[in-house]
Amino acid sequence: MTKYIFITGGVVSSLGKGIVAASLGKLLRARGFSVAIQKFDPYINVDPGTMSPFQHGEVFVTDDGAETDLDLGHYERFTNTSLHQINNVTSGSVYQTVIQKERKGEYLGATVQVIPHITNEIKARLQMATKHFKPDFLIAEIGGTIGDIESLPFIEAIRQFRLEEGIGNSISIHVTLLPYLQTSGELKTKPSQHSVYVLRSYGIQPEVLVCRTAIPIHKAEKEKIALFCSVQKDCVFECKDMKSIYEVPLALEAQNMAGVVLKLLNIKDKKPNLSSWEKLVDKIKHPKNTLTVALAGKYTDLSDAYISVVESLKHAGLEFDSKVNIKWLATEECTDLNKAKEFLSDVDALVVPGGFGVRGIEGKLNVIRYARENNLPFLGLCLGLQCAVIEYARNVAGLEGANSTEFDENTKYPVIDLMTEQKNVAGYGGTMRLGAYPCHLKEGSKVHKAYGTKIISERHRHRYEVNSEYKKLIEDKGLIISGSSPDGLLAEVVEYPKNDWFVACQFHPEFKSRPESAHPLFRGLIKAAVNRKK
Ligand code: GLN
Repeated sequence: MTKYIFITGGVVSSLGKGIVAASLGKLLRARGFSVAIQKFDPYINVDPGTMSPFQHGEVFVTDDGAETDLDLGHYERFTNTSLHQINNVTSGSVYQTVIQKERKGEYLGATVQVIPHITNEIKARLQMATKHFKPDFLIAEIGGTIGDIESLPFIEAIRQFRLEEGIGNSISIHVTLLPYLQTSGELKTKPSQHSVYVLRSYGIQPEVLVCRTAIPIHKAEKEKIALFCSVQKDCVFECKDMKSIYEVPLALEAQNMAGVVLKLLNIKDKKPNLSSWEKLVDKIKHPKNTLTVALAGKYTDLSDAYISVVESLKHAGLEFDSKVNIKWLATEECTDLNKAKEFLSDVDALVVPGGFGVRGIEGKLNVIRYARENNLPFLGLCLGLQCAVIEYARNVAGLEGANSTEFDENTKYPVIDLMTEQKNVAGYGGTMRLGAYPCHLKEGSKVHKAYGTKIISERHRHRYEVNSEYKKLIEDKGLIISGSSPDGLLAEVVEYPKNDWFVACQFHPEFKSRPESAHPLFRGLIKAAVNRKK
């Protein structure tokens, strides 16, 4: 029987509830339990696929092609699992289902209301995840902050659900902030008390508190919070700011958080196996070398926009005992080859990540050209592949003005063009080529060696592709198509064999990298960077 763990947040947003959920998931998995983590987002968008990365950070793509919240990336990376569409629920998706049912007459003339129709649909989503994964534990994280109007239907649904599942089968964890007042040198508990009052006024008494804090919490403070928030003393946990998010599971384990959670849920505790995670954290804390990787993107003010890429670079760095520093490049500023050279002079590798729209494209072409001409290790992701092909077409294959029709509809040489299957697609939101597709690698290519296998599966999110009319010309000029869709039609990977590592892929390998097993393409990039630095 599945046990449920609900996680809410109080006082402020961006508390790292996702990391707490992922960390608890990790601790339960380390004890041999199966865990599924579900994110409930209170916004009206059906999914985050249509939202600007400035607003919402990265869109994380699952194998089954769902465009989801970036917290799912943390869940996958911490628990080493592969998630599904059902793991991300938004108000928009809930309302969409309810309205569709209403239009079909499924409510038999009833007045359709938030309670019970919306709340029932939310509960149905919890049941769907339970049915799909049959986990020992389903951890459900509710986005937003307690007190928000938007999240009320979710909180109400949880209240009902907990009652229906019976006492002892679920717990509520409230993640909150203890602000530190420098002048008096105190951690303040009042905002947390108020947040718990509000949560209680909705009918939910949390059993566990996780307190975010900049400094350690003393026993006396914990006891005070426990008393005022009506939780047991051993159920108040400290979650201090950490250098690395991967330290959080160990910090919570040191306080026996999973043990306490299991006790509350009447499950016998087991000894966790965290040895490889401990080794990982030790490596993070004591790197032997440092590397600098340039990330040439568009949303450089918000690192969350590329969070999986950044994490993947860190994972690969760890395999070479190296800390990876990111040098952010706003590509709009890279207006010519000299600027590209100046910018890349002190980096060990270049990554051009995915993206949409024409802004900053010329800058990306400049940095890619510099990398290609100077044997700087390079990895292009999705848009990064498209730019690598455009750059090659223009500067090597002699197709002056070559472009993608995404950026110039009337280009003379449309080396990147809308995929045929995309030509009749109307509307945005879930309509790109999404999710896992197989790809066949060319025997003996760099990527074939890197993966160690000929058939791979990777996640996609794009509308454009390498135009097949130009494939032969580009290959004749020396840029190899080393990965293709099984029917041979779509170019999935290109590489420039003269360089040590100049690889670009149409898919998004960053969604499959894990802290304990770096992705082969990121490993390949970092390996080349390490060798170059030597
Ligand atoms: N804009 C490009 C496309 O739609 C690349 C997408 C991406 O990088 N995710 O094909």
